[in-house]
Amino acid sequence: MVSFEDARHLVEQHAAGVSPGEVETVDLLAGLGRVLAEGILADRDFPPFARATRDGYAVRSEDLTDLPARLEVVGEVKAGDWPEPGVRLVGSGQTMAIMTGAPLPAGSDAVVMVEHTSPIRESAGRSVGKLVEVRRGVSVGENFVPRGAEARAGQLLLDRGQRLDHAGIAIAASVGKGRVQVFRKPRVAVLSTGDEVVEIGATPGPAQIRNSNSYSLAAQVQNAGGEAVRLAIAPDERGRLRTLIEEGLGCDLLLLTGGVSMGKYDLVEQVLGELTAEFYFTGAEIQPGRPVVFGSCGGGSSTRSGRGEDPPPHKKYFFGLPGNPVSTVVTFELFARPMIEALAGMTPQQLIFLRARLKSEIRTKTGLKRFLPAVVSGEFENAEVELARWQGSGDIAALARANCYVVIPPDRERIEGGEWVSLLMRSG
Ligand code: AMP
Ligand code: MG
Repeated sequence: MVSFEDARHLVEQHAAGVSPGEVETVDLLAGLGRVLAEGILADRDFPPFARATRDGYAVRSEDLTDLPARLEVVGEVKAGDWPEPGVRLVGSGQTMAIMTGAPLPAGSDAVVMVEHTSPIRESAGRSVGKLVEVRRGVSVGENFVPRGAEARAGQLLLDRGQRLDHAGIAIAASVGKGRVQVFRKPRVAVLSTGDEVVEIGATPGPAQIRNSNSYSLAAQVQNAGGEAVRLAIAPDERGRLRTLIEEGLGCDLLLLTGGVSMGKYDLVEQVLGELTAEFYFTGAEIQPGRPVVFGSCGGGSSTRSGRGEDPPPHKKYFFGLPGNPVSTVVTFELFARPMIEALAGMTPQQLIFLRARLKSEIRTKTGLKRFLPAVVSGEFENAEVELARWQGSGDIAALARANCYVVIPPDRERIEGGEWVSLLMRSG
């Protein structure tokens, strides 16, 4: 039995040693949620020209020392216009009307917002007939973004190993990448065990339950960037369980649920032991999910490797997750997710806890770090959190009502209402 932190670090250490699969090229939008196998570089300066961020007038800031100032309007630049150098220049005492997104004309060094100006119309018939009154001064550089201030041409904008989200998609689009290189999704076998577990299309007998874990796990696997391979349900019987475990070890990662507790028919560890598994932890000081198991099969030196014939068999990691549906979900998030992300080629992500005020007192026992389903609510900045009423780690309905977990340190017996507590948000 290890502490939560030690268990998590063990997974992270092993995850640091795995390599992602092959690289494939996909259309940009198909890359959403995929992990980049290439860095995305700025193809030119960003912005590519000094870009106005306000509608107003491009000015020489030194012309606005005596206010209000009158400036001669010598032209207009709208977004998409390219002011030809020399032809459209802002000279002393001059200005050009400018729109948001337009390039700053030569000679000007700031933009004054239109709100601080009023046009003055002179009598008709004059060639340069427009004047503007400016009521506010500006400092050099105000209201435009200098060329290259966001990124220089050739600069790395998205790193290999980053998972593409909408912001990443925007960046790839802005540099003209219609297709992106991503890593193949790791194939993650999901194996539910238990004599009482039946397929979801079946009509369960009085003591049978439907296999919800294979589905929650498959959803979590997809959400973490993997491809789930749902295997048949394994009964609590050695032979069949072993066959299915061997099948699962053909994938990049194997997730088992059920059969890891201390019961007479909890055979998962025994069968994995027969397959000469190495266990990194069997049990973590957490609730829910205490019986969670992490290990690997294979990867030892091959008997013939000295003669250069067979390469050593590939090491395959597995997690034995407890069968109680909430335990399965929680232990996946805490331990299996970082391994899937690593197999998907992602740079390691830290587990981030937020803070919120507890609505009402919690009493519990010491000894385990607890991740209790909870509801965080409250409008705007007034986040408050309250435990979801639950009947223990089998209560998937309570989990469905929750949107986060309250994290209770192992040394706390009582946490009062109004105290700040740590939260782990529930991911998709
Ligand atoms: P176990 O970890 O095998 O002792 O199972 C703990 C509890 O989880 C038992 O009540 C099981 O019936 C339930 N359970 C096990 N596997 C599943 C599954 N695939 N789907 C839903 N519940 C399960
Ligand atoms: Mg069982």
